[in-house]
Amino acid sequence: QCPWGAPNTTSISCSLADVMSEQLAKELQLEEENAAFPEVVAVAEGPFITGEDIDTSSDLMLAQMLQMEFDREYDAQLRREERKINGDSKVSISFENFRKVHPYDSDSSEDEVDWQDTRHDPYRADKPTTTPRKGFIGKGKDITTKHDEVVCGRKNTARMENFAPEFQVGDGIGMDLKLSNQVFNALKQHAYSEERRSARLHEKKEHSTAEKAVDPKTRLLLYKMVNGGMLETITGCISTGKESVVFHAYGGQSATEDKVIPPECAIKVFKTTLNEFKNRDKYIKDDYRFKDRFSKLNPRKIIRMWAEKEMHNLTRMQDAGIPCPQVVILKKHVLVMSFIGQDQVPAPKLKDVTLSSEDMKKAYYQILNMMQQLYKECNLVHADLSEYNMLWHDGKVWLIDVSQSVEPTHPHGLEFLFRDCRNVSQFFQKGGVAEALNERELFNAVSGLNITADNEVDFQAEIEALEKMNEDHVQNHGKKLSMFSSDGDPPIYDE
Ligand code: ADP
Ligand code: MN
Repeated sequence: QCPWGAPNTTSISCSLADVMSEQLAKELQLEEENAAFPEVVAVAEGPFITGEDIDTSSDLMLAQMLQMEFDREYDAQLRREERKINGDSKVSISFENFRKVHPYDSDSSEDEVDWQDTRHDPYRADKPTTTPRKGFIGKGKDITTKHDEVVCGRKNTARMENFAPEFQVGDGIGMDLKLSNQVFNALKQHAYSEERRSARLHEKKEHSTAEKAVDPKTRLLLYKMVNGGMLETITGCISTGKESVVFHAYGGQSATEDKVIPPECAIKVFKTTLNEFKNRDKYIKDDYRFKDRFSKLNPRKIIRMWAEKEMHNLTRMQDAGIPCPQVVILKKHVLVMSFIGQDQVPAPKLKDVTLSSEDMKKAYYQILNMMQQLYKECNLVHADLSEYNMLWHDGKVWLIDVSQSVEPTHPHGLEFLFRDCRNVSQFFQKGGVAEALNERELFNAVSGLNITADNEVDFQAEIEALEKMNEDHVQNHGKKLSMFSSDGDPPIYDE
């Protein structure tokens, strides 16, 4: 079709009611926007990031990548100069401090506030200054009421700051701009409809990419890992879940001698779209390890906390000798670990693999063992244990996905454990393992507690009573009940 031809005018016939309907209006609006911003992202097949070919649809990312290339060349040049000047001389000078890319500090982040910086929360709008209830300030003839034109105008100007951040308001306060209520209201109206419009566009953009990959910032982070040599190639996506996207990569060279990067890695990217994480609050909010931090954090940091939690939990498991991925590195919300599987093929989940009855039995006893180790040695409850989060590899079961794992004394820790036991027990009983304990027996075997109730409801009630008792104990004595640890000591706390 000729691009200069007359536009295709499709006449839509519909009733007046339809025309009036807001739904239709919205659809038409969306259609129009679709036409104006066609989706360009046709994701190419093949390696995801190799260092050479990379999606460059974001100008910002492109600029950052070019800067990185430039910095690298600049550093190489410095090194050459250094060598030339020093020659064979016994005394040498170093240009180290003039380098742009510092290998161990390659993401001293420009654009991100980091962990420790909790004073400033960019998500919270400043409180507008209020006029006292009585409605006026000052005395005698200097009195100004809240309706004062000048004060009101300034206040309106200040309020503009509360519009969406993309909405350019300029430095109204600096100029001592005074907006009348009428102008302010018109602006407000405009700002809101702009916000809604851009939110819709934004949403679309996000959905189109979240499926296949990740946002530009994360891509840059991944690119840095490849560029820095830590990873050889990121080959592609293994899994896109609600809360994370997992990629496969071939390992590269470590910057430090003592650390070995596994030949194949899994990269778990915790999604930075927040919706899915909201309902996970209860795992982390009540976890005393994160208590002091939670209240001060903004959503992005909370997501990084999930990644951090997964790292700590995996490390504990590794130390106890439980088969699980080994942590390679954590960068913000991206966790790199060893890959369970071979030649880009991830090990199958327990739910997808058909085991001989002998292997099935073996797997069961191994899991029973791992659950006990996890509880006693790692002081952890998996909290999402099921055939979905256990992989079968090398003739044994590997535990993964431990970002939500908590300590047994977590206010809901025992309930989580009971749920885990139910999943495991049901899976193996259905799978024909006659020796498999039922969920209540399994719970006692793992926790070392001795809850005697012989039906589910009473059992659950006793668990909740125990949790409550522990909470009260913590409230009153500042420490946990000793029954939770096998040797009477309070649980080890190693962070
Ligand atoms: P989610 O919270 O999205 O379920 P998981 O950690 O369970 O995240 O990872 C999702 C999937 O990615 C897993 O079911 C598994 O198939 C794969 N996966 C995750 N980590 C690894 C790993 N280290 N090695 C191989 N495959 C992995
Ligand atoms: Mn999972």
